[in-house]
Amino acid sequence: MTTLTKTEGEKAPTGPDSFLSVRDLRVRFSTEDGIVKAVDGLSFDVERGKTLGIVGESGSGKSVTNLTVLGLHNPKTTTVEGEILLEGQDLVTTPEKEMEKLRGNKVAMIFQDPLTALSPYYTVGRQIAEPFMKHTGASKKEARDRAVEMLTKVGIPQPRTRVDDYPHQFSGGMRQRAMIAMALVCDPDLLIADEPTTALDVTVQAQILDLLKDLQQEFGSAIIFITHDLGVISDMADDLLVMYSGRAVERGSVREVLREPRHPYTWGLLSSMPRLGGSTSQPLTPIPGSPPSLLNPPSGCPFHPRCTFTDKVSGDRCSTERPTLGDGRAAACHLTAEQKQTIFIDKIQPRLR
Ligand code: SF4
Repeated sequence: MTTLTKTEGEKAPTGPDSFLSVRDLRVRFSTEDGIVKAVDGLSFDVERGKTLGIVGESGSGKSVTNLTVLGLHNPKTTTVEGEILLEGQDLVTTPEKEMEKLRGNKVAMIFQDPLTALSPYYTVGRQIAEPFMKHTGASKKEARDRAVEMLTKVGIPQPRTRVDDYPHQFSGGMRQRAMIAMALVCDPDLLIADEPTTALDVTVQAQILDLLKDLQQEFGSAIIFITHDLGVISDMADDLLVMYSGRAVERGSVREVLREPRHPYTWGLLSSMPRLGGSTSQPLTPIPGSPPSLLNPPSGCPFHPRCTFTDKVSGDRCSTERPTLGDGRAAACHLTAEQKQTIFIDKIQPRLR
């Protein structure tokens, strides 16, 4: 299981099995309107060969977190604090020249839209072969053979011929497979997949997810899988981090979080999501309101303007006191453990049937 055991803000050493350890990460952007707190004190660990799912609405900080892990933020407008320890090496303080060597080699990313990651001017084969040559020093011939091998692995038919095709000659699903081949060509230890199947139809989506799982078995990579779709995550991840307003609000194994979620925001996400095989008479319940501005986040619990359970918490704690995320399986909410359990059983669980 992916280890998620330390509290936010804690600067702990990496665990024995932790491949990536993020500690108290804070990412801020300077804009004309002020400072955007995109990530605000986030901690998590990912083990080798395991998948951590990160879920949350747009603007929750999940994509910014992962672009920061890859060092793809603009250093002129972005401030990064905290630690991103990759096998003990802190990526926050690693110079850009060294990050270039890590990207595509030790750490790789699959983007939502292959058209933004694949250049229309070069053949698919060349785009897979180039990072391999750059990072391994392989010859052109070796790199081309490797591109054919990778296209075969990701299930592209006639790979020896298709290796010379341009991206526009591939279907959407094939382009996504080609991008996976490109990301995995150097056998990275950490793969970050950002909404990798959102643009695909359900059948192709299922094929790509199966492919990722098979390749993870073969390559042993750790995966961070970012999505807003809790249905996809149940099938893909070992552990789950739910993000809201740049913070982690709930974490645990995927099984625990989906079976017995403890945070009102996670309840909201699950209640607003269609369920495969669920009752069609049970209406979906959207979360009221919209995600908060990161320029001027709400005081106290960032979810309080949208939360329908603030009356269960004494005084004005929800709007004045920031709840912290405890160790291990945890939810950052002022409700007591008993209240969370009772509300879930009485009010939330019936909606999820
Ligand atoms: Fe809702 Fe209060 Fe819990 Fe935040 S701390 S999720 S506002 S009950």
